[in-house]
Amino acid sequence: MSELAKCPFCGSDKEPCLEHFDAGDYESRSVRYRCSECLSSEDYWSDNEEEAKNRWNTRPLESALRAEVDALREALTRIRTQFFADGDDEIIALQMQEIARAALKVEDE
Ligand SMILES: [Zn+2]
Repeated sequence: MSELAKCPFCGSDKEPCLEHFDAGDYESRSVRYRCSECLSSEDYWSDNEEEAKNRWNTRPLESALRAEVDALREALTRIRTQFFADGDDEIIALQMQEIARAALKVEDE
């Protein structure tokens, strides 16, 4: 399995190409990864391959969205489970409201 994540632009899991930029002197040599499928690349050049790999694999927005989706999925599963559980309808409704409020990060209304 590749140490490189799927392309953030098209989702391809094909190994991206390491692209080199060389302005003629050693100090200005830099690298970045470019998708082998859609040819998209990072905007920034890195000083070395390891840094380029970290940059390619770092997706703070995607990670935050995945965490939020997981939290919402867990909340919906809890609501669904409790909705079908036996019990007092009013208590269930209050519990579902509390779960949804926590998942949506809504303050008391
Ligand atoms: Zn791509």
